[in-house]
Order: sequence, then structure tokens, then C-alpha cells
Amino acid sequence: MIYLDNAATTMTDPEVVRAMLPYFTENFGNPSSLYGMGNDVRHAIALAKEQIARLIGSRPNEIYFTSGGTESDNWALMGAVLGVKHRPHIITTQIEHQAVLNTCKALERMGCEVTYLPVMRDGLVDIDKLKKALKPETDIVSVMMANNEIGTIEPIAQIAAIAHENGSLVHTDAVQCVGNIPLDVRELDVDLLSASAHKFGGPKGVGFLYIRNGIDIRPYIYGGAQQGGMRAGTENVPGIVGMGAAAEIAGRNLDMRSKHIETLRDMLLNEIKDRVPGTTLNGSRKNRLPNNINVSFSGVDAQALQVRLDMQGICVSTGAVSASGNQDRSHVLKAINVNEARKNGAIRISLSDKNTMGEIDRVADIISQQVDMIRGMQW
Ligand SMILES: *Cc1c(COP(=O)(O)O)cnc(C)c1O
Repeated sequence: MIYLDNAATTMTDPEVVRAMLPYFTENFGNPSSLYGMGNDVRHAIALAKEQIARLIGSRPNEIYFTSGGTESDNWALMGAVLGVKHRPHIITTQIEHQAVLNTCKALERMGCEVTYLPVMRDGLVDIDKLKKALKPETDIVSVMMANNEIGTIEPIAQIAAIAHENGSLVHTDAVQCVGNIPLDVRELDVDLLSASAHKFGGPKGVGFLYIRNGIDIRPYIYGGAQQGGMRAGTENVPGIVGMGAAAEIAGRNLDMRSKHIETLRDMLLNEIKDRVPGTTLNGSRKNRLPNNINVSFSGVDAQALQVRLDMQGICVSTGAVSASGNQDRSHVLKAINVNEARKNGAIRISLSDKNTMGEIDRVADIISQQVDMIRGMQW
């Protein structure tokens, strides 16, 4: 099997699994317990905060554990606007993940105003439109750091500077970036940042929200005193330990690793373009995640291709995993003005450092062969 869907999820690193195991068995204690075993577990959680803080350039006490990227996005947005004295205003984009878009829709039903910024053809936010959308009462600007379908990397530092000048909070969904490309919350100057462990070699069902010290945001889950009362409930200790280990591993040679993946990515893209006429790349060529390819093959239905690739042992994606139904297969491709035919022909290939040169050749071969077969059936 050749796995090329790392934007959907990644394999849990065996080293991560090893780090987690004792926290199911001999170290099963509750971190809130005041005896030795509780202490050990508290230390493990503190270590995970340090490992994550090191990866993103924050302080350990700015890391809050959640059940994943979706919860972190929900918390950032709801925490920033619920209970404010005026009618809240959120600015986000049309290409966000459903975790942001559907939270915004729920908040609209509760009375918030939400502006969904359009993006340009390469998927980049139009900065002029952002400036025009800002109002004195805009509470929060939430723009994803990199898109999960087309891999476009947004100019977050520039967006944050503009939003801060207006006195608004800044959130970024960095689920596709943390552990994948180097990033630093101080350089980005964001107030809130979402991430998810299973997108960078950690376990599923655990993530974090970075909350900059000193900003005003509401708690998300009410209950005991865990996490300073901000997100109550007994911590997912094995998951947190696993996420910490994954952060530590991801931080090793991150720069070199992401350049290596980019080289593999460019090789694959060039081979596909050489062998398959009628290939178009969706999204920005330049401002792009190092592991992302999103291509359309003219006259080819992506789902038919995906099934054929699957039969050859190759896992790719057609649009976002959580997008449902065929009707509006991708809100992202729609937002960048991809026409209907190209939209139906779009597949996403997302690599990892586990992919090899040999796999790249094989994948390009099989894609060109399967595209030819689909086209042959039609013409
Ligand atoms: C995967 C993903 C999420 C959701 O994260 P989960 O941990 O699966 O809930 C949110 N945003 C983006 C950009 C993603 O890629």
C-alpha cells in the first residue's frame, strides 16, 4: 500500500505508541491525585506542554489540551465572542475547514455577525478585502494557516498585524502546519492557534489550543479545576503524552524534513504533468504546503480515479474527508473559481517523509495508466 493521504491523518509513530503505553497501565493515575502516581502523571503532562511549546515557540502555560483540531477551533471562536457586550463580529474566510465554518454558522444563529472573506484564484486571502471588512467592534479574525485541500499557506503574520491594529483577536487553524512546517507563534503574532495530534504523527482524539497569556477568552468546558478551569475534565493522559512525543519527534530536523518532502512532491508533480496531458494544479504553486498536490485531470471524474487507485493500493483523497455529498464537493475549489469539470476531477495527494522515490515513480505510472483507461472508456 502507498499512503498519500497525510492531510487526512498520519500513522501514529511507533515511538509515540511506546511513550503512551505506560500511561494506560503502570502509570494509570489521575493527574489530580495528590499521591506519588498522580505526581508522575502531572509531570508527564507538564513535559508534553514543554515539548509542544518548543515546537511552536510558546510558553508551556499557553498550551491547553483539547480533543482535537475541531474542539480547538470551536473553543477559539466561541471563547472569543460568547458573552461580549456588543453584537459580536467575526471575520473568517470561505475556505476554512468545516470546524471553523460550522462553528461560525452556529454563532450566526446565536446572533453573531460573520464575514466570510473571499480568496483569490491561488487561494490567498485578499488583504484589501480584509481591511475593508474590519469594524471597530470586530472581535476576532480567524484565518487558517494552510488550507487542508489545496495547501495554500496564508500570510498570517501580515493578517495578524492588520487585525491587531484594529484591536481584534487573531486565531489561526494551523492543523495542517504544526509538525509539518516550521512555525513560531511569536513571529506569527497570533493570539490563538489550533492543532491536532493525529495530523503530525500523534494519536487521534487529542489536540491543543495555544492561548496567548493575557488575552481574554472564556473557558470551554465547565467542571473541575483541570487546566485552570478553562477546559475541565480529567485529562486524556495517554493522548497528551503521545502528542508531546509526536511534537518532540516532529521538531527534529523539521526544516530538512519538510524540504525533503517538498523535493518528493515536486518530482511527483512534474512526473504527473509530463505523463498526463490535461493536468492542472489547483491552488498556489509558490505559497503551498511542502506535502500537498491538488490536481485536476480534464475529463476524469476524481471519484472514479480514486477507486481505481485504491484497487492498485494507492490512497489519495477527493476533496475534504468530512465534505459530504456530491452536490458541492468542495467549497474550497468553488471559492477559488475552479470550474465544475475541474472540480469533479480534483484529487489531493498529501505526502509524508515515509514516502520514497520508488513510490513516486510507481504512483506517477499508475496515475497516468488509470487516467488513460478512464479517458479511453469515454472516447
Ligand atoms: C483535520 C483538520 C481539522 C480537524 O481536526 P480533528 O483533530 O480531526 O478534529 C481542523 N482543521 C483543519 C485544517 C484540518 O485539516
